[in-house]
Amino acid sequence: MPEPATISDTAVLVLGAGPAGLVLANLLCAAGVECVVLERRSRAHVEQRARAGFLSPRSVALLREHGLDQGLSRLGKRHDRCEFRSAAGRLELRYSELGSRKTHTVYPQQLLVTDLIAELGRRGGEIRFDTAVRSLGGLDSARPWVRAEDAVLREQRYAARYIAGCDGARGVARTAVPVVPAVRDHGITWLALLARAPACSDSVVYGVHGAGFAGQMPRSPDITRYYLQCDPGTDVEEWDEDRIWNALDERLLAGQFGAPARGPIIERSLVRLRSEILDPIQHGRLFLAGDAATSISPSAAKGANLAIAEAAILADALGAAVRTGDEAGLRSYSERCLPLIRQAQEFSHWMIDLLHPPAGDDPEAAYQRVLRRARLDSLSTSASHRHYFADNYVGI
Ligand SMILES: Cc1cc2nc3c(=O)[nH]c(=O)nc-3n(C[C@H](O)[C@H](O)[C@H](O)COP(=O)(O)OP(=O)(O)OC[C@H]3O[C@@H](n4cnc5c(N)ncnc54)[C@H](O)[C@@H]3O)c2cc1C
Repeated sequence: MPEPATISDTAVLVLGAGPAGLVLANLLCAAGVECVVLERRSRAHVEQRARAGFLSPRSVALLREHGLDQGLSRLGKRHDRCEFRSAAGRLELRYSELGSRKTHTVYPQQLLVTDLIAELGRRGGEIRFDTAVRSLGGLDSARPWVRAEDAVLREQRYAARYIAGCDGARGVARTAVPVVPAVRDHGITWLALLARAPACSDSVVYGVHGAGFAGQMPRSPDITRYYLQCDPGTDVEEWDEDRIWNALDERLLAGQFGAPARGPIIERSLVRLRSEILDPIQHGRLFLAGDAATSISPSAAKGANLAIAEAAILADALGAAVRTGDEAGLRSYSERCLPLIRQAQEFSHWMIDLLHPPAGDDPEAAYQRVLRRARLDSLSTSASHRHYFADNYVGI
Protein backbone atom coordinates (compact mmCIF):
# COMPACT_ATOMS: atom_id res chain seq x y z
CA MET A 1 0.00 0.00 0.00
CA PRO A 2 1.48 3.40 -0.91
CA GLU A 3 1.97 5.79 2.00
CA PRO A 4 -0.89 8.37 1.95
CA ALA A 5 0.23 11.98 1.58
CA THR A 6 0.43 13.94 4.83
CA ILE A 7 -2.57 16.24 4.73
CA SER A 8 -1.78 18.21 7.85
CA ASP A 9 1.42 18.94 9.74
CA THR A 10 0.75 20.87 12.88
CA ALA A 11 2.20 21.53 16.33
CA VAL A 12 -0.20 19.31 18.31
CA LEU A 13 -2.57 16.64 17.06
CA VAL A 14 -5.39 16.05 19.51
CA LEU A 15 -7.14 12.70 19.17
CA GLY A 16 -10.75 12.82 20.35
CA ALA A 17 -13.31 15.60 20.85
CA GLY A 18 -14.53 14.73 24.34
CA PRO A 19 -14.02 16.96 27.39
CA ALA A 20 -10.27 16.21 27.55
CA GLY A 21 -9.50 16.90 23.89
CA LEU A 22 -11.73 19.95 23.62
CA VAL A 23 -10.46 21.65 26.78
CA LEU A 24 -6.91 20.97 25.67
CA ALA A 25 -7.50 22.31 22.15
CA ASN A 26 -9.19 25.45 23.47
CA LEU A 27 -6.32 26.18 25.84
CA LEU A 28 -3.73 25.54 23.13
CA CYS A 29 -5.53 27.86 20.71
CA ALA A 30 -5.76 30.58 23.35
CA ALA A 31 -2.01 30.23 23.90
CA GLY A 32 -1.35 30.57 20.17
CA VAL A 33 -0.34 26.92 19.73
CA GLU A 34 -1.56 25.43 16.45
CA CYS A 35 -3.50 22.20 16.80
CA VAL A 36 -5.89 19.94 14.91
CA VAL A 37 -8.50 17.71 16.60
CA LEU A 38 -9.43 14.38 14.98
CA GLU A 39 -12.78 12.93 16.05
CA ARG A 40 -14.20 9.59 14.94
CA ARG A 41 -17.84 10.61 15.34
CA SER A 42 -19.95 13.32 13.73
CA ARG A 43 -20.42 16.70 15.37
CA ALA A 44 -24.11 15.95 15.97
CA HIS A 45 -23.22 12.70 17.71
CA VAL A 46 -20.74 14.17 20.18
CA GLU A 47 -23.01 17.14 20.89
CA GLN A 48 -25.84 14.81 21.89
CA ARG A 49 -23.95 12.11 23.79
CA ALA A 50 -25.26 12.27 27.36
CA ARG A 51 -22.78 11.11 29.96
CA ALA A 52 -21.44 13.05 32.92
CA GLY A 53 -23.12 15.91 34.68
CA PHE A 54 -21.33 16.67 37.93
CA LEU A 55 -18.48 19.16 37.69
CA SER A 56 -16.13 19.65 40.61
CA PRO A 57 -15.24 23.16 41.86
CA ARG A 58 -11.77 22.73 40.39
CA SER A 59 -13.23 21.98 36.93
CA VAL A 60 -15.59 24.94 37.14
CA ALA A 61 -12.79 27.29 38.25
CA LEU A 62 -10.58 26.08 35.45
CA LEU A 63 -13.25 26.46 32.78
CA ARG A 64 -14.04 29.94 34.11
CA GLU A 65 -10.41 31.00 34.22
CA HIS A 66 -10.04 30.09 30.55
CA GLY A 67 -13.29 31.66 29.34
CA LEU A 68 -14.99 28.30 28.74
CA ASP A 69 -17.89 28.76 31.12
CA GLN A 70 -20.53 30.71 29.16
CA GLY A 71 -23.19 27.99 29.18
CA LEU A 72 -22.08 26.60 32.50
CA SER A 73 -22.41 29.95 34.26
CA ARG A 74 -25.88 30.49 32.80
CA LEU A 75 -27.39 27.04 33.13
CA GLY A 76 -25.24 25.13 35.63
CA LYS A 77 -27.00 24.29 38.89
CA ARG A 78 -25.27 24.26 42.24
CA HIS A 79 -25.54 20.86 43.91
CA ASP A 80 -24.57 20.40 47.51
CA ARG A 81 -25.92 17.18 48.98
CA CYS A 82 -26.27 13.48 48.54
CA GLU A 83 -28.33 10.91 50.30
CA PHE A 84 -27.91 7.23 51.10
CA ARG A 85 -31.02 5.08 51.52
CA SER A 86 -30.60 1.63 53.03
CA ALA A 87 -32.04 -0.73 55.63
CA ALA A 88 -30.36 1.57 58.17
CA GLY A 89 -32.62 4.44 57.04
CA ARG A 90 -31.87 7.68 55.24
CA LEU A 91 -28.60 9.51 55.63
CA GLU A 92 -28.26 12.95 54.04
CA LEU A 93 -24.84 14.54 53.66
CA ARG A 94 -24.89 18.25 52.88
CA TYR A 95 -21.34 18.59 51.71
CA SER A 96 -21.52 22.37 51.33
CA GLU A 97 -21.37 22.35 55.15
CA LEU A 98 -18.68 19.70 55.50
CA GLY A 99 -14.92 19.55 54.98
CA SER A 100 -13.79 22.37 52.72
CA ARG A 101 -17.48 23.26 52.13
CA LYS A 102 -17.43 22.91 48.37
CA THR A 103 -20.25 22.08 45.96
CA HIS A 104 -20.70 20.46 42.57
CA THR A 105 -22.16 22.19 39.55
CA VAL A 106 -24.58 20.09 37.53
CA TYR A 107 -24.14 20.77 33.82
CA PRO A 108 -24.75 17.95 31.34
CA GLN A 109 -21.59 16.87 29.53
CA GLN A 110 -23.19 17.13 26.08
CA LEU A 111 -23.87 20.83 26.70
CA LEU A 112 -20.29 21.37 27.83
CA VAL A 113 -19.00 19.57 24.74
CA THR A 114 -21.28 21.72 22.53
CA ASP A 115 -19.96 24.90 24.20
CA LEU A 116 -16.35 23.78 23.84
CA ILE A 117 -16.77 23.00 20.13
CA ALA A 118 -18.37 26.41 19.48
CA GLU A 119 -15.67 28.22 21.43
CA LEU A 120 -12.90 26.33 19.65
CA GLY A 121 -14.41 27.50 16.35
CA ARG A 122 -14.36 31.11 17.60
CA ARG A 123 -10.71 30.69 18.58
CA GLY A 124 -9.84 29.50 15.09
CA GLY A 125 -9.30 25.84 16.06
CA GLU A 126 -9.90 23.00 13.63
CA ILE A 127 -11.83 19.80 14.32
CA ARG A 128 -12.06 17.07 11.71
CA PHE A 129 -15.17 15.08 12.53
CA ASP A 130 -15.89 11.64 11.06
CA THR A 131 -12.16 10.95 11.12
CA ALA A 132 -11.21 7.75 12.89
CA VAL A 133 -7.61 7.30 13.97
CA ARG A 134 -6.39 3.80 13.11
CA SER A 135 -2.72 3.85 14.15
CA LEU A 136 0.07 6.06 15.51
CA GLY A 137 3.79 5.93 14.91
CA GLY A 138 7.11 7.73 15.03
CA LEU A 139 6.48 8.54 18.69
CA ASP A 140 10.20 8.69 19.47
CA SER A 141 10.92 10.87 16.44
CA ALA A 142 10.64 14.63 15.99
CA ARG A 143 7.58 14.14 13.76
CA PRO A 144 5.16 11.56 15.11
CA TRP A 145 2.24 10.70 12.86
CA VAL A 146 -1.26 9.31 12.84
CA ARG A 147 -3.10 7.32 10.20
CA ALA A 148 -6.81 7.87 10.03
CA GLU A 149 -9.83 7.19 7.85
CA ASP A 150 -12.44 9.73 6.87
CA ALA A 151 -16.18 9.05 6.52
CA VAL A 152 -15.73 7.42 3.10
CA LEU A 153 -12.82 5.27 4.36
CA ARG A 154 -10.18 7.31 2.57
CA GLU A 155 -6.86 6.85 4.35
CA GLN A 156 -5.19 10.01 5.65
CA ARG A 157 -1.89 10.78 7.32
CA TYR A 158 -1.38 13.56 9.85
CA ALA A 159 1.91 14.66 11.39
CA ALA A 160 2.70 16.87 14.36
CA ARG A 161 5.38 17.73 16.87
CA TYR A 162 3.31 16.20 19.68
CA ILE A 163 0.24 13.98 19.94
CA ALA A 164 -2.36 14.21 22.69
CA GLY A 165 -4.30 10.97 23.11
CA CYS A 166 -7.72 12.08 24.36
CA ASP A 167 -9.68 9.37 22.54
CA GLY A 168 -11.26 7.75 25.57
CA ALA A 169 -11.13 4.34 27.19
CA ARG A 170 -11.54 2.43 23.92
CA GLY A 171 -9.36 4.64 21.78
CA VAL A 172 -6.17 3.80 19.94
CA ALA A 173 -3.75 6.11 21.75
CA ARG A 174 -3.60 4.17 25.00
CA THR A 175 -2.55 1.03 23.14
CA ALA A 176 0.58 2.88 21.91
CA VAL A 177 1.87 3.33 25.48
CA PRO A 178 3.85 0.15 26.15
CA VAL A 179 2.86 -0.53 29.77
CA VAL A 180 0.72 -3.17 31.39
CA PRO A 181 -2.17 -1.33 33.03
CA ALA A 182 -3.37 -1.92 36.57
CA VAL A 183 -6.92 -3.22 36.11
CA ARG A 184 -9.90 -4.02 38.27
CA ASP A 185 -13.02 -5.50 36.75
CA HIS A 186 -15.53 -4.92 39.52
CA GLY A 187 -17.82 -7.64 38.17
CA ILE A 188 -20.69 -5.16 38.35
CA THR A 189 -22.93 -3.89 35.55
CA TRP A 190 -25.24 -0.89 35.68
CA LEU A 191 -28.17 -0.12 33.50
CA ALA A 192 -27.64 3.60 32.82
CA LEU A 193 -30.91 5.38 32.12
CA LEU A 194 -32.09 8.85 31.23
CA ALA A 195 -35.70 9.60 32.06
CA ARG A 196 -37.77 12.54 30.95
CA ALA A 197 -39.04 13.12 34.46
CA PRO A 198 -38.06 15.29 37.42
CA ALA A 199 -35.95 13.70 40.17
CA CYS A 200 -37.73 12.65 43.38
CA SER A 201 -35.56 15.14 45.27
CA ASP A 202 -32.99 17.62 44.05
CA SER A 203 -30.28 15.51 45.62
CA VAL A 204 -28.17 12.61 44.40
CA VAL A 205 -29.68 9.49 45.94
CA TYR A 206 -27.81 6.21 46.43
CA GLY A 207 -30.01 3.21 47.17
CA VAL A 208 -28.00 0.46 48.91
CA HIS A 209 -30.38 -2.47 48.64
CA GLY A 210 -30.32 -6.25 48.82
CA ALA A 211 -31.77 -6.47 45.29
CA GLY A 212 -28.90 -4.32 43.99
CA PHE A 213 -27.79 -0.73 43.80
CA ALA A 214 -29.99 2.08 42.43
CA GLY A 215 -28.92 5.68 41.94
CA GLN A 216 -30.61 8.93 41.04
CA MET A 217 -28.60 11.86 39.64
CA PRO A 218 -30.49 15.04 38.78
CA ARG A 219 -29.49 16.51 35.40
CA SER A 220 -32.05 19.24 34.63
CA PRO A 221 -35.56 20.10 35.91
CA ASP A 222 -37.13 17.52 33.61
CA ILE A 223 -34.30 15.04 32.89
CA THR A 224 -32.91 12.63 35.48
CA ARG A 225 -30.20 10.02 35.24
CA TYR A 226 -30.86 6.73 37.00
CA TYR A 227 -28.67 3.70 37.47
CA LEU A 228 -29.78 0.17 38.30
CA GLN A 229 -27.34 -2.61 39.09
CA CYS A 230 -28.25 -5.58 36.92
CA ASP A 231 -26.97 -9.03 36.02
CA PRO A 232 -23.73 -8.74 34.04
CA GLY A 233 -25.31 -10.76 31.23
CA THR A 234 -28.51 -8.75 31.10
CA ASP A 235 -30.04 -7.56 27.84
CA VAL A 236 -31.26 -3.94 27.84
CA GLU A 237 -34.38 -5.08 26.02
CA GLU A 238 -35.37 -7.14 29.09
CA TRP A 239 -35.88 -3.89 30.98
CA ASP A 240 -39.21 -2.41 29.98
CA GLU A 241 -40.40 0.81 31.61
CA ASP A 242 -42.55 -0.90 34.26
CA ARG A 243 -39.70 -3.14 35.33
CA ILE A 244 -37.35 -0.15 35.54
CA TRP A 245 -39.67 2.04 37.60
CA ASN A 246 -40.67 -0.83 39.89
CA ALA A 247 -37.00 -1.64 40.55
CA LEU A 248 -36.25 2.04 41.23
CA ASP A 249 -39.21 2.27 43.64
CA GLU A 250 -38.08 -0.84 45.48
CA ARG A 251 -34.37 0.01 45.74
CA LEU A 252 -34.82 3.73 46.48
CA LEU A 253 -37.27 2.78 49.24
CA ALA A 254 -40.05 4.79 47.65
CA GLY A 255 -42.57 3.55 50.22
CA GLN A 256 -40.64 5.27 53.03
CA PHE A 257 -39.02 8.24 51.35
CA GLY A 258 -41.04 9.12 48.25
CA ALA A 259 -41.25 7.62 44.77
CA PRO A 260 -39.42 8.97 41.74
CA ALA A 261 -41.79 10.73 39.32
CA ARG A 262 -42.30 8.39 36.37
CA GLY A 263 -41.79 9.45 32.77
CA PRO A 264 -40.54 8.04 29.48
CA ILE A 265 -37.11 6.41 29.52
CA ILE A 266 -35.31 8.20 26.71
CA GLU A 267 -32.00 6.39 26.83
CA ARG A 268 -30.75 3.10 28.23
CA SER A 269 -27.31 1.54 28.02
CA LEU A 270 -25.10 -0.82 29.98
CA VAL A 271 -22.04 0.35 31.91
CA ARG A 272 -19.62 -2.30 33.11
CA LEU A 273 -17.70 -1.03 36.12
CA ARG A 274 -14.08 -1.40 35.19
CA SER A 275 -11.11 0.61 36.40
CA GLU A 276 -7.80 0.87 34.67
CA ILE A 277 -4.69 2.90 35.39
CA LEU A 278 -1.72 3.39 33.08
CA ASP A 279 1.59 4.48 34.60
CA PRO A 280 3.16 6.40 32.96
CA ILE A 281 0.52 8.09 30.81
CA GLN A 282 3.00 9.15 28.17
CA HIS A 283 5.40 7.58 25.71
CA GLY A 284 7.84 9.52 23.53
CA ARG A 285 5.85 12.40 22.07
CA LEU A 286 2.46 10.94 22.94
CA PHE A 287 0.61 12.15 26.06
CA LEU A 288 -2.68 10.69 27.28
CA ALA A 289 -5.45 12.61 29.04
CA GLY A 290 -8.93 11.74 30.32
CA ASP A 291 -10.39 8.25 29.96
CA ALA A 292 -7.51 7.32 27.64
CA ALA A 293 -5.17 7.66 30.63
CA THR A 294 -7.43 6.06 33.21
CA SER A 295 -10.87 4.47 33.05
CA ILE A 296 -12.82 5.07 36.17
CA SER A 297 -16.30 3.93 37.09
CA PRO A 298 -18.97 6.66 37.22
CA SER A 299 -19.68 5.84 40.90
CA ALA A 300 -18.07 9.02 42.22
CA ALA A 301 -18.37 11.31 39.17
CA LYS A 302 -14.65 11.68 38.65
CA GLY A 303 -14.05 10.85 34.96
CA ALA A 304 -14.91 14.15 33.29
CA ASN A 305 -13.29 16.09 36.11
CA LEU A 306 -10.04 14.18 35.79
CA ALA A 307 -10.18 14.73 32.02
CA ILE A 308 -10.45 18.51 32.47
CA ALA A 309 -7.70 18.67 35.12
CA GLU A 310 -5.27 16.63 33.02
CA ALA A 311 -6.07 18.62 29.86
CA ALA A 312 -5.14 21.84 31.66
CA ILE A 313 -1.85 20.40 32.93
CA LEU A 314 -1.03 19.08 29.47
CA ALA A 315 -1.93 22.39 27.79
CA ASP A 316 0.58 24.22 30.01
CA ALA A 317 3.30 21.69 29.29
CA LEU A 318 2.67 21.57 25.52
CA GLY A 319 2.43 25.35 25.35
CA ALA A 320 5.86 25.73 26.95
CA ALA A 321 7.38 23.03 24.74
CA VAL A 322 6.01 24.47 21.47
CA ARG A 323 6.66 28.14 22.27
CA THR A 324 10.03 27.94 24.01
CA GLY A 325 11.28 24.40 23.47
CA ASP A 326 11.21 23.80 27.24
CA GLU A 327 10.05 20.19 27.68
CA ALA A 328 10.41 20.02 31.49
CA GLY A 329 6.61 20.16 31.93
CA LEU A 330 6.14 17.35 29.43
CA ARG A 331 8.75 15.18 31.13
CA SER A 332 6.94 15.49 34.47
CA TYR A 333 3.41 15.24 32.99
CA SER A 334 2.68 11.73 34.31
CA GLU A 335 4.13 12.57 37.73
CA ARG A 336 1.82 15.56 38.01
CA CYS A 337 -1.33 13.71 36.93
CA LEU A 338 -0.92 10.36 38.62
CA PRO A 339 -1.53 11.57 42.20
CA LEU A 340 -4.91 12.97 41.03
CA ILE A 341 -5.70 9.71 39.24
CA ARG A 342 -4.73 7.55 42.22
CA GLN A 343 -6.80 9.60 44.63
CA ALA A 344 -9.87 9.56 42.35
CA GLN A 345 -9.54 5.82 41.77
CA GLU A 346 -9.22 5.09 45.47
CA PHE A 347 -12.35 7.05 46.35
CA SER A 348 -14.32 5.61 43.43
CA HIS A 349 -13.35 2.13 44.52
CA TRP A 350 -14.45 2.92 48.08
CA MET A 351 -17.81 4.10 46.73
CA ILE A 352 -18.25 1.01 44.55
CA ASP A 353 -17.63 -1.17 47.57
CA LEU A 354 -20.07 0.76 49.71
CA LEU A 355 -22.83 0.80 47.11
CA HIS A 356 -22.71 -2.89 46.14
CA PRO A 357 -22.81 -5.13 49.19
CA PRO A 358 -22.72 -8.73 48.01
CA ALA A 359 -26.01 -10.59 47.88
CA GLY A 360 -26.45 -14.21 49.00
CA ASP A 361 -26.89 -16.25 52.14
CA ASP A 362 -23.30 -17.37 52.59
CA PRO A 363 -21.43 -16.25 55.72
CA GLU A 364 -18.82 -14.27 53.75
CA ALA A 365 -21.53 -12.20 52.00
CA ALA A 366 -23.23 -11.63 55.35
CA TYR A 367 -19.92 -10.49 56.84
CA GLN A 368 -19.32 -8.08 53.95
CA ARG A 369 -22.79 -6.60 54.48
CA VAL A 370 -21.92 -5.97 58.13
CA LEU A 371 -18.87 -3.99 57.02
CA ARG A 372 -20.95 -1.83 54.63
CA ARG A 373 -23.43 -1.17 57.39
CA ALA A 374 -20.55 -0.11 59.67
CA ARG A 375 -19.36 2.36 57.00
CA LEU A 376 -22.79 3.91 56.68
CA ASP A 377 -23.08 4.07 60.49
CA SER A 378 -19.71 5.74 60.66
CA LEU A 379 -20.75 8.34 58.07
CA SER A 380 -23.80 9.01 60.16
CA THR A 381 -22.07 9.26 63.55
CA SER A 382 -18.54 10.49 62.88
CA ALA A 383 -18.06 14.16 61.95
CA SER A 384 -14.48 13.53 60.85
CA HIS A 385 -15.62 10.75 58.51
CA ARG A 386 -18.23 13.04 56.98
CA HIS A 387 -15.64 15.79 56.43
CA TYR A 388 -13.30 13.28 54.81
CA PHE A 389 -16.10 11.99 52.60
CA ALA A 390 -17.13 15.52 51.52
CA ASP A 391 -13.61 16.54 50.52
CA ASN A 392 -13.14 13.40 48.45
CA TYR A 393 -16.62 13.52 46.96
CA VAL A 394 -16.18 16.99 45.43
CA GLY A 395 -12.44 16.56 45.00
CA ILE A 396 -10.28 16.95 41.85
C1 LIG B 1 -23.32 6.88 31.91
C2 LIG B 1 -22.11 7.68 32.33
C3 LIG B 1 -22.23 8.66 33.33
C4 LIG B 1 -21.12 9.40 33.73
N1 LIG B 1 -21.26 10.34 34.72
C5 LIG B 1 -20.17 11.07 35.10
C6 LIG B 1 -20.28 12.19 36.05
O1 LIG B 1 -21.37 12.51 36.56
N2 LIG B 1 -19.15 12.90 36.33
C7 LIG B 1 -17.93 12.62 35.75
O2 LIG B 1 -16.94 13.30 36.05
N3 LIG B 1 -17.81 11.60 34.85
C8 LIG B 1 -18.89 10.85 34.50
N4 LIG B 1 -18.76 9.90 33.52
C9 LIG B 1 -17.46 9.69 32.88
C10 LIG B 1 -17.21 10.76 31.82
O3 LIG B 1 -18.28 10.85 30.91
C11 LIG B 1 -15.92 10.43 31.09
O4 LIG B 1 -14.92 10.24 32.05
C12 LIG B 1 -15.52 11.57 30.14
O5 LIG B 1 -16.35 11.57 29.00
C13 LIG B 1 -14.06 11.43 29.71
O6 LIG B 1 -13.76 12.42 28.76
P1 LIG B 1 -12.67 12.12 27.64
O7 LIG B 1 -12.59 13.35 26.82
O8 LIG B 1 -11.45 11.59 28.26
O9 LIG B 1 -13.25 10.89 26.81
P2 LIG B 1 -14.57 10.79 25.93
O10 LIG B 1 -15.63 11.69 26.43
O11 LIG B 1 -14.85 9.34 25.82
O12 LIG B 1 -14.09 11.36 24.52
C14 LIG B 1 -13.22 10.63 23.69
C15 LIG B 1 -13.53 11.01 22.25
O13 LIG B 1 -12.62 10.32 21.39
C16 LIG B 1 -13.33 9.84 20.27
N5 LIG B 1 -12.58 8.69 19.73
C17 LIG B 1 -12.51 7.42 20.21
N6 LIG B 1 -11.74 6.66 19.43
C18 LIG B 1 -11.31 7.46 18.43
C19 LIG B 1 -10.49 7.24 17.29
N7 LIG B 1 -9.97 6.03 17.03
N8 LIG B 1 -10.26 8.28 16.46
C20 LIG B 1 -10.79 9.51 16.70
N9 LIG B 1 -11.59 9.76 17.76
C21 LIG B 1 -11.84 8.75 18.60
C22 LIG B 1 -14.70 9.46 20.82
O14 LIG B 1 -15.69 9.42 19.81
C23 LIG B 1 -14.92 10.60 21.82
O15 LIG B 1 -15.59 11.69 21.24
C24 LIG B 1 -19.86 9.16 33.10
C25 LIG B 1 -19.75 8.19 32.09
C26 LIG B 1 -20.86 7.46 31.70
C27 LIG B 1 -20.72 6.43 30.59
